[in-house]
Amino acid sequence: MAEYKSQIWRINVCEQTLKHEPIPEIWRRLGGRGLLARILVDEVDAMCDPLGAGNKLIFAPGLLVGHMLSSTDRISIGGKSPLTGGVKEANAGGRTGYHMAFMGIHALIIEDMAKEDGYWVLHLSLNGAKWEKADYITGLGVYDTAPKLLEKYGDKVAIALIGPGGEMRMKSAGIQNIDKDRIPSRIAARGGLGAVMGSKGLKAIVFDQAGGQKPAIANPEAFKVAQKDYTTSVMNHPQSVTYRDYGTAAMAQMTQRFAALTVRNFSRGTFDNVENISGETLREFTLTRGKPSDPAHACMAGCTIKCSNVFGGRTARSSSRR
Ligand code: SF4
Repeated sequence: MAEYKSQIWRINVCEQTLKHEPIPEIWRRLGGRGLLARILVDEVDAMCDPLGAGNKLIFAPGLLVGHMLSSTDRISIGGKSPLTGGVKEANAGGRTGYHMAFMGIHALIIEDMAKEDGYWVLHLSLNGAKWEKADYITGLGVYDTAPKLLEKYGDKVAIALIGPGGEMRMKSAGIQNIDKDRIPSRIAARGGLGAVMGSKGLKAIVFDQAGGQKPAIANPEAFKVAQKDYTTSVMNHPQSVTYRDYGTAAMAQMTQRFAALTVRNFSRGTFDNVENISGETLREFTLTRGKPSDPAHACMAGCTIKCSNVFGGRTARSSSRR
C-alpha cells in the first residue's frame, strides 16, 4: 500500500477547481481549531465581508482524527464569522472529520464566490472533485436533503450540508454533518458558518473516502499504550459516567451550583426552574419515548462517553412524532 499522504485541498468555487498543495511547515503540527485560526490569520483579510469573496470556509480535522479515540474523531469548521465579525471555529461530531483524515485532507480551504446564482453539491473523493447542480434539493431542510444525497452517493459517504437558513445567509445558520447512523444531526452551530457555506454556493459537500487509508502513526506501539491508558482514564472518570447517564444536560445543575448559568443575557447566574432543564429530567423524559430515543448515544463512532441524546419516537403522553 502507498505511504499515507496528507495535503491541503483548496477549492475555488468561482473556477470550480480543486488543487492539492503540500502542507506549509507552519501548519504541519496544527490541526482543528488551531489550524483553521492560523489559516485565517495567514490568508484572510480581517476586514473582509464574511459573506464575500475574501472570506474562506475551512474544514480541519484534529491531528488525532482517524484512530477511533474517544471524543477526537470530530470536525472543526471555521471562517470569519458573519455573526460576530471575528475568528470562528465551530466543532461537530459525525463522520466528516474521520473521512477527511482517511482521504489525507489536512485542511479543506474553500475560497472565492460562485460565478452564478444557485447551489451545488461538491463531491470529493481520491479521484478529485465533481460539481453537481443542487436544484433538486435547494430549499429543503437537512433532514429531507440527506436521504436524497445518501441515495445518490451511497450510504458510506460523509456529508456536510446546509438547510434554508444557510441558503438565506442567516447569520446564525450552522452546517450539519451526518453521524454514524446517517442522521444529519451533528451541527457546527456557532457563528453563522452555514451562511458562509451558502455564500460559496454550496448546498452540500460529500466526502467519499473509498480507497483511503488510516492516518500514519510514527510509533504504533507507543500509540497503543497511550490509547489504552487514555481510554481507561476517560471511561473511569466520574464526569464521563455522569455524562453517559445524563448527557451534556448534566451541565445545567453543575453550572447552577457554580452560579454560572447564562440567565437573562448573563445578568444572573442561576435559574429558578433549573430542574426542568436538567440532565435527570431529560433522561427521564427520553426514556418515556420509544426507539430511536436514546439517552446515551455516541455522536461519533468510538466515543466511550456517549453524552449525546437522541430524542425521537412517541411520548407516552402525546402522539406527536419528531
Ligand atoms: S458523544 Fe459527547 S463526549 Fe462523545 S464525542 Fe460526542 S460530544 Fe464528545
